[in-house]
Amino acid sequence: RIPTSPGAAAFNDKGCGMAQLLNEFDCERTLKNGTYWMPFTANRRVKEHPASRIITSAKGAYYYTAEGKPLFDTLSGLWCTPLGHGHPRIVEALKTQAETLDYCTAFQMANPVTVRLAERIAGMAPNGLDHVFFANSGSEAVDTALKIALGYHRLRGEGGRFRMIGRERGYHGVGFGGMSVGGIVPNRKMFANGMMNGVDHLRHTYDSAHMAFSKGQPAWGGEYAEDLERLIGLHDASTIAAVIVEPVQGSTGVLVPPVGYLQRLREICTKHGILLIFDEVITGFGRMGDNFASQRFNVKPDMITFAKAVTNGIVPMGGVIVSSDIYDTFMTGPKNAVEFAHGYTYSGHPLAAAVGHAVLDIMEEESLISRARSLEIILEEAIHSLADLEGIKDIRNIGLTAAIDLVPASDAPGARGLPLFELGLKNGLLLRCTGDTVSFGPPFISTTEQLQDMVETVRRLIVSVTQ
Ligand code: PLP
Repeated sequence: RIPTSPGAAAFNDKGCGMAQLLNEFDCERTLKNGTYWMPFTANRRVKEHPASRIITSAKGAYYYTAEGKPLFDTLSGLWCTPLGHGHPRIVEALKTQAETLDYCTAFQMANPVTVRLAERIAGMAPNGLDHVFFANSGSEAVDTALKIALGYHRLRGEGGRFRMIGRERGYHGVGFGGMSVGGIVPNRKMFANGMMNGVDHLRHTYDSAHMAFSKGQPAWGGEYAEDLERLIGLHDASTIAAVIVEPVQGSTGVLVPPVGYLQRLREICTKHGILLIFDEVITGFGRMGDNFASQRFNVKPDMITFAKAVTNGIVPMGGVIVSSDIYDTFMTGPKNAVEFAHGYTYSGHPLAAAVGHAVLDIMEEESLISRARSLEIILEEAIHSLADLEGIKDIRNIGLTAAIDLVPASDAPGARGLPLFELGLKNGLLLRCTGDTVSFGPPFISTTEQLQDMVETVRRLIVSVTQ
C-alpha cells in the first residue's frame, strides 16, 4: 500500500511558520525566473514545466509532489537515504542533539557524540582502518583523502610522489581534486584549465561485448588492472602518490568490477608503495550488502571515503577512514604542532554525528544490511527479466544497485534518459537517468512488491520511450 501524502499539515501543528510560507510562496514562479540555480540540472528544461519538479514532503520510500502524488524513490535520494524518509528515531535524535549541543568548534575541541561515531565507523571498517577524519560531503572526503596521500608521502621523505591516478568514468565529486581524478567527460570539459597537475586515469573496465547482461561481477576483465602497470611504466612509481577508484562505479551507471580486478589493483599498489583509496561514498554503509564494498570484494584499501548513507542523507556528513600506518605517519614532529593542516568548520558536526548514531542503531537493530543483501536477489531477478525488451542494450546489478543501458537513438545518442525521467514523474517513479542509462539504488526498507512494481513500471516506460 502506498501511503498518502503527509502534506504540510505537520508544520501547522508545530506553528513554526512553514505552512504559511508554503501557502503564500509561488515556488513555480521563482523556479521559472531562475533565482534558484539548480545543481546538475537542465535548468531551462525545468522552467518549461516547473510544477512537475517540486517535491514538498517525503515518508518511507516515497516522495510527494506539491499535488500530493507519491513518487517511489528509486535511487534512495542520490544514493543516500537507505532507511527511507522521515524516520521518527532519526528526527528525535536530531532534535535532542540540537537541544544539547548544536555545534562544537571542530578545531582543538571534541564532543563525545562525534568521537564515539568515529569509533563505531572504524569498528565497521576492515581491520587496520582504524582512524576517521570527518568532512561534510563526498567531495570533501575525496579531497581530504588526496591531501592525506600527499602528506603521507612527504612525511616519509617521498615528496616526489605527487601524481594521482583515477579512472575513466569515475566520479569523485566536484572539488578540484575530485574533478581532476574523476573521469566523466562532461564534468571535466568546462573546467579543463583548472585540473590538478599530474593526474592520469586508468581505463574503465566496461566492455559490453564481453560483459553485457552480467549478474553481479563480470567473470571477464580482471586483467584491466594491468593498465596500472602501464601508467606506472609511463610515469615511474616514484612520482605516484595514490590510486583512487570507486569499487563499483555508481554515477556512470553501476559499472561492476570484474572478478579479480580490485585484488590485482591492490597487489600492484602494494608492490610500488602507492596508496589505494576506495571511494565508498555510494557503496559504504550497506549498499553492497556488507558494511563496505571492501569487505564484499575482500580487498583492503589504505583509505576509504564515505558520505551519504552515514546520515541517511538527512544532514551532510562525509569522511575518510585511514590505516594506522597512515595515521601514525602523521603523528610525528613537535607535539604542539598541527599534524595535518586541513579540516572544515563543520567537520564532525554534532548534529550529523547524532544522526549517524541513530542510522547505525536502526541498521543494526533491523538488520538492514542483511536485508539489502536479500533484496539484491529480488532486484537482480526482476531487473534481468527486462532483458528481452528490444530497446535495451545492457542490464547490470550488484548489491542493492542496478542499471539499464537503453539502445541510443541513432540521431541523438545520450538522449533517451530525459524523456524516461519525465515519464517516470507522471507514473509514480523518481528515476535517475543519465545519458541513455537509468540507475537504481532503492532504499533498504523497500519491500519485494515495491521493487517488482518499480521494475514493471520501468518496463512499460521503456517500451514507450524506445518505440
Ligand atoms: N564520490 C562518489 C563515489 C560519489 O558517488 C559522490 C556523489 O555522488 C561523491 C564522491 C561526491 O559526493 P558529494 O555530492 O556529497 O560531494
